Amino acid sequence: MTVIRRNVKLRRTRRMGKALWFAAVFLAALLMLPSGCYAADTSAGPGPAVTILWSPEIRSAAKAPETERNTMTETEVDAMFYISEISDEIFARIKGRSYKDNCTVPLSELRYLHLLHKDIDGVVHEGEMICSAKIAEDVLAIFRELYDAGYPIEKVRLVDEYDADDERSMADNNCSSFNFRTVSYTTKLSNHALGLAVDINPLYNPYIKTLNGKPHVEPANAVPYTDRAADFPYKLTEGDLCYRLFTEHGFTWGGHWQSCKDYQHFEKVTD
Ligand SMILES: [Zn+2]
Repeated sequence: MTVIRRNVKLRRTRRMGKALWFAAVFLAALLMLPSGCYAADTSAGPGPAVTILWSPEIRSAAKAPETERNTMTETEVDAMFYISEISDEIFARIKGRSYKDNCTVPLSELRYLHLLHKDIDGVVHEGEMICSAKIAEDVLAIFRELYDAGYPIEKVRLVDEYDADDERSMADNNCSSFNFRTVSYTTKLSNHALGLAVDINPLYNPYIKTLNGKPHVEPANAVPYTDRAADFPYKLTEGDLCYRLFTEHGFTWGGHWQSCKDYQHFEKVTD
């Protein structure tokens, strides 16, 4: 699998705190490299150079510090946006999680996306997503435009890092696509089960359905964001750049649904 490298310079104002963090990462790296973790790189020009290992284990063990604002060249940015087939290494991460034992979707119909995105403070993060091969190029192109425009996206991690628990992933405001699961409150397979749907900043753009006269909100901690007239970060609105890009690429938006509202959700019917 591709080795992912990133060089980051320590910011002077938070040098001590970050130095401690990086020391922890370095120690963790020493422990993990023999087990086949992603490799590291250290060349970074003048100033202290540090290494960030990219692995779910490291990320869950220590919350990454802010990275420098985008100091990468265009070529370096381009190299961070790519699509690959589902390698054995990636399959090991999703097997029994989003790719459940009863999954009927052949691996050959899925793709792994690697991308960059910027959070609300403009900090650059690496993202990973698995979706259908049928929409992979659309989704990568959309994320590239969102990145270039600085449209805020907080997290793009494999839902498997949340044990494929969509509620946990949404509650953490994590964007995701493929997850072999049913539509909430039904036995019908979701378009996420086919990797044909993408959820964007789901905490701030919840799924709202009225059942027995009562509103049900997913994720449960998104109730403050059901007021779509209110102003808050990461709010996806009809006509904004994210909405425009998805619809231009042929997706429909859950915010237009009548029986419920799914403000985070875009899906594409491909057949
Ligand atoms: Zn969705």
